[in-house]
Amino acid sequence: MGMGRFKNGKFDLVVVANFSMSSSDATEWRRSFEKASELFWDASEGQVQYGRIFVCDESVGADSAEIILHASGDPSYGTWGKFGVPGQALHLMPYVKFQVLTHHHEMGHHVWALGEEYAADAVLEQIDTSVAAPDNATVPLVGSSFAPGALVDADAILKFGANLERRNIAANTTTSLTVSPAFSQSPTTDSDGRVQYQFPAECATATGSRFCIMENSRGAAGTLDAAGNWTPAAQPVTEFCSDSNHDADLDTQQEARNHDSCWETIVARPGYTGLAAPDPAVAGPTTGFSTPDWIVLDKQSRFAVMVDRSGSMSVGNKMTDARHGAVYWLEFCSVGNDLLSLISYDDQIDTLLGLTQVSALGGLGPTTTTINALTPRGSTNIRDALFAGRDQIESLPTRAAVQVALLITDGIHNFPTGSSPTEALDEYQEGGIRLYALGVGQPGAVDMGVLDGLAAGTGGRSFSVGDNQPNVIENAMIEINAEVRGGIITTEPALFPDSGNSGIDEIIEPPLEQGKGSVRPGQRPPLATLLDAAGVKSLESLLKRGRQRSDRIVVIPVDVESDADRASFSIVHPPKEDVWLYLVAPDGAVVDPNAGDVHHVESTSPHEFVVVDRPLPGRWLLVAVRVRPGAAFTAGVVAGGENRNLQVFASAPPWAPSATPVVIRGAARWKHQLSDIGVRANVTAPSGATWSTVLVDDEADRRNTGNYQAVYQPQEDGRYRALVTIVGSPTASIAEPFTRLSHSETDSIDSDPGAPFFVRQVVIGFDVGERRKPKPDDEIPSRPLPHRPRPTRLRSADWTRLYEN
Ligand SMILES: [Zn+2]
Ligand SMILES: [Zn+2]
Repeated sequence: MGMGRFKNGKFDLVVVANFSMSSSDATEWRRSFEKASELFWDASEGQVQYGRIFVCDESVGADSAEIILHASGDPSYGTWGKFGVPGQALHLMPYVKFQVLTHHHEMGHHVWALGEEYAADAVLEQIDTSVAAPDNATVPLVGSSFAPGALVDADAILKFGANLERRNIAANTTTSLTVSPAFSQSPTTDSDGRVQYQFPAECATATGSRFCIMENSRGAAGTLDAAGNWTPAAQPVTEFCSDSNHDADLDTQQEARNHDSCWETIVARPGYTGLAAPDPAVAGPTTGFSTPDWIVLDKQSRFAVMVDRSGSMSVGNKMTDARHGAVYWLEFCSVGNDLLSLISYDDQIDTLLGLTQVSALGGLGPTTTTINALTPRGSTNIRDALFAGRDQIESLPTRAAVQVALLITDGIHNFPTGSSPTEALDEYQEGGIRLYALGVGQPGAVDMGVLDGLAAGTGGRSFSVGDNQPNVIENAMIEINAEVRGGIITTEPALFPDSGNSGIDEIIEPPLEQGKGSVRPGQRPPLATLLDAAGVKSLESLLKRGRQRSDRIVVIPVDVESDADRASFSIVHPPKEDVWLYLVAPDGAVVDPNAGDVHHVESTSPHEFVVVDRPLPGRWLLVAVRVRPGAAFTAGVVAGGENRNLQVFASAPPWAPSATPVVIRGAARWKHQLSDIGVRANVTAPSGATWSTVLVDDEADRRNTGNYQAVYQPQEDGRYRALVTIVGSPTASIAEPFTRLSHSETDSIDSDPGAPFFVRQVVIGFDVGERRKPKPDDEIPSRPLPHRPRPTRLRSADWTRLYEN
């Protein structure tokens, strides 16, 4: 998320630098935020300031950042009113360390959707690409709606791939316009065949006006120097416009979009209606504010997993499946330095594992035994389980860059009587803890509305799965594990058909007998031997559709991008079956499970996984070998990629009435928000019918927004699953190029973010039609758990480097 909040007149923000900050960087940025806070106080007549600034660098925790700091680049850019929305951030460039008013201008866009006051709303017209432009200064038009000469003094903007160029218009007719100087290439090669006009406009007319911040930015209020000294501008701009002084000739973008002054737009915004709009805004106050708290985040991941063990979990595979999923999280956290807490709950809350760095436990045996001893009992106290998870994550004096709680429940909160899980929402927001919620059971069994609200309110997500097949809960917990660590590269079923005893068993049986049914990864037969015995010529031959098949070996390709921190490859199978996992790296080498950068975990639970540090970029092959012949079954394969430069987001409303359209959204960030990438959704309806579509980020009057969407029209009621696939490549560009160019002091900008080829998938679910709300059952409450007060004051973590070099 944007985990930003505005509460009691203060913005709490997560600020993440996507580079390694030096101590002078950190000092300069800190001063910039402090000065900006003081200027917010001035601009708002003492109503708005920065509160707590949670800061991290090296892109750690970037998926929660409200503000992203860059080491290089120009200009800064934000969103239109998407403060606090997952995946949306404001990007500040290094000049903002000194040119502080950019904070207020960009927050103006990002928080309140204020428009520009120095330019009119942009207009797009079609380029006539059927003719060759006579020269690079002439843009042929399909038929301009502007009278000849009317565009003189406006600017024309063209986009050539990742490059944007702005030129002054010297002349125009209805079929062409001429710019000076010429564009660097032929105008008919513009990326989408449209020219955008930028018209000058103004909010303030008198010289020396202190407003309007949306007409100005950068050093217009003053500048800081490297020693932290503030030099006010000659005529400092420190105010937003108000009703009596806004844009006399009504020609600005702010006027066109919001039909009001900046202050009127601000106080009409939900969440800010308590502010009073000054008219006109005046200088000051210069006292009464407080210095924002600058809190350095700990570069660690803290997780809390809360497993429902109420009586209803005894039905079907639910309890065993949830136990297996919890064991997976424990095992995964043992690879690396993650902190984990495990909690079980019915009407009673039990901490199975207090927040601990799992790799320092000295063995997982005792905790695994504790998890596996969980049996269903009692009623359901979701609220206090949430409080307990929060207590664990906040049991240290610092705040971590990644804080995620995962709640699993198959029912509804029914104890203590009269309480509600939503009582925990504020504390999760306050603590910066993202909640992921997994509802288990048939539609109507779980109160998904409550879980959706908690997840959405904290920047997490909610999921619902059925309970009618084994592994479904465990598989979902594995998917969530991959998502919170950087994203899923692929999640798909691996189908093993009916099979009889065959040549491969002559190779597998001896070590299996020797190992009494299980063989450690390092002691298994070589993959080549198994392929040979199974009559498989090559792994490639198994990948080609309709070609060779093996009833014992399944191959799944996994595309890992360059510069990934880690990649994970997991398979989950029915408890009575067994599968061996092999990995083939992009260079064709079969991965040695004992290599130093490889962590191959074979579990006593029905799953197995491999984590590879600093994986080679390219196509990896996950090879799953069925150990024993028998009846058909389906395993689940989930591969995840951890890359601090890359974040992806996708969503749909969790619920829609029957037959109403559902908007599916997606976005990706490679340091910058991306456009010119591929985003696709595959939707599976309750009946099993599938629908596939491409998401686009162009709107009627704006292109390359970076916010991809598609509209799905449901035909039936029930629970839908959608898989959003996001594919990036070196041709990706930075989103919102026109906003960026209009913020630029130069007439061309490079929009190449330097993204590599990458693939990520996001699982989303939504319900269509009336959502039956379950009724509380009659389980008898016992032992209430007192609600503990939250820890008081947070301490800054020590600056640490992830990698020493
Ligand atoms: Zn702007
Ligand atoms: Zn204004």
